[in-house]
Amino acid sequence: MRCVLLLAPHNSYRIHAYIEAALHLDIRLIIASQSEHSLVSAVASGVQVDFSDEVLSIERLLAAHKKFNFDAIVASDDSAVKLAAKVGEALGLFTNASDSALLTQRKDLSRKRLQEKGLPTPAFRIVNLDTELASQLKALHYPAVVKPLSLSGSKGVIRVDDVRTCISACERVKPIIANSASEFERSHVLVESFIEGDEVAFEGILHNGQLTQLAIFDKPEQMNGPYFEESYYITPSRHTAQWQQKITKCVAEVCRGFGLREGPIHAELRLHNNEAWLIEIASRTIGGDCADMLKFGLNIGIEELVLLQALGKPVELSALDGSVGVLMIPVPSRGVLRRVEGLKQASEVPYITEIGISVREGYELVPLPEGSSYLGFIFAKAPTAEAVENALRCAHQRLNIVTTPVFKLEKI
Ligand code: ADP
Repeated sequence: MRCVLLLAPHNSYRIHAYIEAALHLDIRLIIASQSEHSLVSAVASGVQVDFSDEVLSIERLLAAHKKFNFDAIVASDDSAVKLAAKVGEALGLFTNASDSALLTQRKDLSRKRLQEKGLPTPAFRIVNLDTELASQLKALHYPAVVKPLSLSGSKGVIRVDDVRTCISACERVKPIIANSASEFERSHVLVESFIEGDEVAFEGILHNGQLTQLAIFDKPEQMNGPYFEESYYITPSRHTAQWQQKITKCVAEVCRGFGLREGPIHAELRLHNNEAWLIEIASRTIGGDCADMLKFGLNIGIEELVLLQALGKPVELSALDGSVGVLMIPVPSRGVLRRVEGLKQASEVPYITEIGISVREGYELVPLPEGSSYLGFIFAKAPTAEAVENALRCAHQRLNIVTTPVFKLEKI
């Protein structure tokens, strides 16, 4: 039986999908995670690591290799990709070089590399929040975007239209990045020009430096800020074949420029000035629940593709059948979730395949830029992308999200 090491933060949405994929493929999965008690189940054993202590984690994982003899290593989330690459390098497995993996984890380093490689990239500044801001922001062009160096899910990403709003956004981001991994990431933000244009997401998989496109998702909702909540993802794309070629070419050039050679790729791009501009690239799959809608060939899921690729057995793919899409249900406003009404009516909309509410009643909903969670997901599958979009919009309209305000009692 082949054995794969999965590196995953304990709260990763993707662990479950990898366990299922490994079961289906008859692969032994060992999960390295940060939980106090390592994850152990009938199908997956665990190794405890501390993602903030790379040296110790590498030592533990190399020791675990002696016991389990890993054939491959996979990272579920951004925070694990560099460690996975380091262990993979040490064991000679199919992984990216750790320097390349780091570029996908740090937005400042990514922007520098794009610039060095002459790829389209917005003008940017790396701003130190611990020193006077106004002088660091001189001669910046607005609108601009302030963003943390290493968070994800649009957390802390704020559009600003002038120097005054830029300074207050920098102040607002400070507590949001307070728990970042390094002192530099806790004290610096990226400020870059706002790139107008339609946004798309690209899913692909690399093997031996060759990029295979899995899907291009359109994001039909305009994302102009000031915060950038994800909403609709629909594939196949309705952009022209020419645009789609530009998108794939841009991602392939970025992978080459970053030295990325192995594993899944999730990228966000904007279509601007007749070119595809990379906003962000990650060497992981799209979020767990969203990945569920992508089934290729004989109903093979994205996590299975990743496991097979990591074992050096890439799969020939056939195109997706029909159109699929998801709406990541936005958090309507700050408040305590009481209930979600209309679920039955929403699920009866033609082409809706599943609705999942991931937040429990009584939980405080915190919208962006401080918050980090969606309320849940609506999935649809239909013959065309238009039908998927209509179904998702119609189902969303039937939902009524009931919240109550948050009252904080102060001690007198
Ligand atoms: P995260 O990794 O937290 O998702 P991103 O850098 O991908 O952060 O930014 C989140 C979203 O913010 C993007 O999907 C995009 O809509 C918007 N955004 C970020 N940077 C820019 C930019 N320079 N121009 C326009 N929109 C941007």
